[in-house]
Amino acid sequence: MSVTAEKQNRVLIVDDDDAFLQVAGAILRRRQLEVTTAASAGEALSLVEAGFYHIVILDISLPDMTGTELLPRLLEARPDTMAIMLTGHSSAENAIQSLNGGAFAFLEKPLDPEYLLSVINQGLEKQGLLFENHNLVAELEQRNRETGILLRVSQAVLQSLELPQILAAALEHVVHSLDVDAGHIHLLKNDRLVLHGQRGFAAGLVSTIAEMDGGGGILGTLLRLGRPVVIKNLSAASEPDLAPLVKHGYKFYCGVPLVVTGENIGVMGVAASRGVDFTHKQVELFSAIGREISIAVQNTRLYEEASSARALKELEALRGELLANVSHELRTPLAAIKGCASTVCDPEVNFDESTLRDFLETIDKEADRLNQLIEEMLIMSRLEAGALEVDTRPLAAAEIIAAIRDRLDNLTAGYNFSVNVNGGRRRVAADTARLGQVLTNLVENAVKYGGGKGSSITLEARGDGDAIVFSVSDEGSGIPAELHDKIFERFYQVADPQLGHRPGAGLGLCICRGIVSAHRGRIWVESEAGRGSKFSFSLPVIKE
Ligand code: ADP
Repeated sequence: MSVTAEKQNRVLIVDDDDAFLQVAGAILRRRQLEVTTAASAGEALSLVEAGFYHIVILDISLPDMTGTELLPRLLEARPDTMAIMLTGHSSAENAIQSLNGGAFAFLEKPLDPEYLLSVINQGLEKQGLLFENHNLVAELEQRNRETGILLRVSQAVLQSLELPQILAAALEHVVHSLDVDAGHIHLLKNDRLVLHGQRGFAAGLVSTIAEMDGGGGILGTLLRLGRPVVIKNLSAASEPDLAPLVKHGYKFYCGVPLVVTGENIGVMGVAASRGVDFTHKQVELFSAIGREISIAVQNTRLYEEASSARALKELEALRGELLANVSHELRTPLAAIKGCASTVCDPEVNFDESTLRDFLETIDKEADRLNQLIEEMLIMSRLEAGALEVDTRPLAAAEIIAAIRDRLDNLTAGYNFSVNVNGGRRRVAADTARLGQVLTNLVENAVKYGGGKGSSITLEARGDGDAIVFSVSDEGSGIPAELHDKIFERFYQVADPQLGHRPGAGLGLCICRGIVSAHRGRIWVESEAGRGSKFSFSLPVIKE
């Protein structure tokens, strides 16, 4: 910036010496500076408040206040002005005071015009740098703001893998950050644009724009060209898809395409009911937000595909596992039933009544086992599909146990079976049929793996804080600590050469765990090898 080149540079000379004002003014005007003069500090201040002067030349002695007093007030009003102090009688004290007060230079009268001009030039140069600096800082701040918005949107869209949540969070940030009234996201499906998220639009408008033609109108053009559109005056636009916006009083619209790896996946747009002056930078920012959202949409799609592929694979694996593990278990009772039935039916053989009864009892028992296995498989597949439902009602521990007491007594015939219920009146949300299955299974296991006929099996229920804990203890060989989690996994059975083949498919405890968690409870085992086992599950007490 130089004096001669910059015509518009404005200089204010403040001096009560009329002759000086005229001479100095003339000199500076000749160098194409726009010069204004003021004869007092008061006049100077009102001029400075009314307009910006690049340079103010200030005499130290003014009629209404000293130049050194005027200087800080002037710089307070216009911090970027370059102040040059003038005095007729130089004193070091004045010079120091002026420079400390923020003056750019301190000059003595009489003035050498060339010297004054060179000081003015230096001042303008310094000021030019200052302005550049201001601009850079402002630009940086703007960039910071934009990066902040982008960051917030990308954080919001990363919070979830659920598409509706992602789009709702993104639109909330977009509408707020871009200071508009409403926003929408349409995704393409079979060449139709389907509304997947909106914020701020009236219900009547939402139903109108729920589904639109992806080929026509402004949105179609936007998709075809792959470029943002900014419409500052909607009422002048003729595209049919914008008509509903105009009808609802919107004036401004900006839309960007949503694109992933070169493929259009939809459109995002914002609207305002007042005119908005979207700068090129804001459109760029909006497009960048669009890119973030496109990636998030793509991620949810990939995630959905991957999860359904994974779920299918898991189901396939379960089917294989079930076949491998259960077909053997199914065959054993079937073979027994078939054997007994064939024998009984053999016309060549005559059985006495008690032998016949034995065969029939075996058939009955094995049919029950078959039934139980099939029941376990059905529950297991429901558990795996996350579809095991419980039909609960508030019940006390004593009521839950009473419902299956007969069954448990039958199961434990020949054992020292005792029941202690100390659950009090407090109730839990219980599906009696399902919890009956759990208790039966635990007692059955205590019979199968416990201390044998004559040994003790104890069923207890007691209150423990906000829960009721049910437990079944036996006097069997117990379970090593490292298997306490494993036995709850499907098909897991503890290898025991002494016991040989175990009846059962290794599904019982896994099903117990599924049923207990469907009741929002927890199941566990306490056991030491050789010292019996105690299986417990806790159910949360209903707050009444
Ligand atoms: P299953 O009884 O069909 O084998 P479960 O899931 O009910 O299947 O039990 C899994 C395994 O846990 C059993 O095979 C057994 O090894 C062990 N187990 C279960 N209950 C007891 C118990 N009360 N004492 C010792 N071991 C047990």
